[in-house]
Amino acid sequence: MSVVKPKSKVTIGHVFKTIIWPRKNILFVGLLLIIISRAAGLVPPWATKPFMDDILVRRDLDKLPDLLIWVTVAILIQAVTSFLLTKILSVEAQRLISILRSNVQKHLLRLPTRFFDNQKSGALVSRVMNDVEGVRNLVGTGLVQLVGGVLTAVISVIFLININPLMTLFILLPMSIFGIITLKAFSIIRPVFRERGKITAEVTGRLTETLNGVRVIKGFNAEQQEIKVFEKGVEQLFLNVKKSLTSTSFVTSSGTFLVGLASVGIMGLSGYFNLTAGDFLQFTMFMVFMIAPIVQMSNIGSQLTEAFAGLDRTEELMNTPIEDDGTLRTIRLNEINGNIEFKDVSFAYEEGKSVLKNISFSSPAGSVTALVGTSGSGKTTIAGLAATFLNPESGSITIDGVDLEKVSLNSYRSQLGVVLQDDFLFEGTIRENILFPRPNASEEELQKAVRAAFVHEFTDRFEKGLGTVIGERGVKLSGGQRQRIAIARAIFANPRILILDEATSNLDTESESFIQDSLKTLMQGRTTFVIAHRLSTIRQADQILVVEEGQIQERGKHEELIEKKGRYFQLYTYQARI
Ligand code: ADP
Repeated sequence: MSVVKPKSKVTIGHVFKTIIWPRKNILFVGLLLIIISRAAGLVPPWATKPFMDDILVRRDLDKLPDLLIWVTVAILIQAVTSFLLTKILSVEAQRLISILRSNVQKHLLRLPTRFFDNQKSGALVSRVMNDVEGVRNLVGTGLVQLVGGVLTAVISVIFLININPLMTLFILLPMSIFGIITLKAFSIIRPVFRERGKITAEVTGRLTETLNGVRVIKGFNAEQQEIKVFEKGVEQLFLNVKKSLTSTSFVTSSGTFLVGLASVGIMGLSGYFNLTAGDFLQFTMFMVFMIAPIVQMSNIGSQLTEAFAGLDRTEELMNTPIEDDGTLRTIRLNEINGNIEFKDVSFAYEEGKSVLKNISFSSPAGSVTALVGTSGSGKTTIAGLAATFLNPESGSITIDGVDLEKVSLNSYRSQLGVVLQDDFLFEGTIRENILFPRPNASEEELQKAVRAAFVHEFTDRFEKGLGTVIGERGVKLSGGQRQRIAIARAIFANPRILILDEATSNLDTESESFIQDSLKTLMQGRTTFVIAHRLSTIRQADQILVVEEGQIQERGKHEELIEKKGRYFQLYTYQARI
């Protein structure tokens, strides 16, 4: 199965339907507030004329109190509306960000494991956390400000025409040039923003990997190399930001320049048109009010561009098909017995490079199948197929006679347990780590699993017992102790099918015997596939499959295979561990 990543580009229509329209009420309130705010904002420039001509020049002081009240009320209204605007819309934007983040994470977890083979986890973190941030500008004040800005500009133009149509025409010319520059700048900026998300994801991804693998990096003295890679990434990011800064600052500066130019022109023309001081001041103020939103719009434009670029990337992820597709996986399993059968199964990770070739075997309910063979022979792949992490390219795998490809993954995996070599222990207490498959189970059940896996043997020595917090990736525990926690978790989950990848690392003899005993308990009565390295496990197996180059070279029980003196015998004799 190949995971195709469709190219996505979010359209305005799509954004309108999915993001804007469902929030029409709140956006409408926002719009109303912005109209009130902008209308109030026009009072001070309007007041300049009566202030100049009537009060300062004609000394008509009776009008002063009214004027002061008007301006004060207008300023107050502006303050209140902009406060409400930010509060209502910014909160809604943050709510939307949380919803989108949750949706993306939910979708991500439903993608097939193959998808994750080709992705850096840090890059995905950035996708979930950063890419959706852009919508803040769509729902937040950005979009509404844009509408409000257009409105103010239009009203200002009406006032300007009212004062002097010819002069208005004169200032509209530099403004049009500015508009063209702005549009051009955006067409340059959009791909830069899109690129930025990609670079951020890559740099974050690499950094996460570096931190996770810090022991290997130090062990190989590779810090310098990592520092160089990171520096290069950060430099790329810097260059990207520099590029967009150049464009945006060019827009802002040319805006300022053109405004200045218009002012100079007005100064000249005001003499020619015989304007009063009040007219001149009012005209200039309205001009600023017309231009300010245009400059602001150019900022908002870049924010919206960023939002779209982020949504493009999010959409790409959301369009990647999920693995538990209800239309194909229609059969819901009830409680299973656990008879698994591989019939002529072939598989390839990459087209043309087959990893498994016509594998057939059956594992009756409750039996243990040990997979042995040289590294790279295909053992993990067989286990992955049984776990439904992978799907066969041809042939079929059945569970109690039902084709595994048609089964709802949820119903199958709820009866599956997986214990891997480098098992996943997360930051938290030992108790939380064991309880993780069923957080609401009873203390009694937990204790049973703890005892069966001999976890109490070491936790009893800890001051906080099961409540001990383990460091990220279980660093503070020995390999054997981590294994036992993983085994306890699997016993506790009580699965019908068990996939076990035995640790290859040498464990201290004490741990080893505890693990042997707990594995025995774990495998009891469950259909088990074990990538086996311990002779004790292999000896217990109901069947051993010797896998070589993607094929089953030999099969049978330990004694039979030893007697046969074939490949298994070779592995057994020449290698201390298989
Ligand atoms: P084993 O578990 O016996 O060591 P695997 O099943 O892991 O072997 O691998 C079998 C073959 O498949 C190897 O040649 C390996 O390189 C290849 N392989 C494993 N995982 C992937 C993957 N995610 N993408 C491409 N090839 C892979």
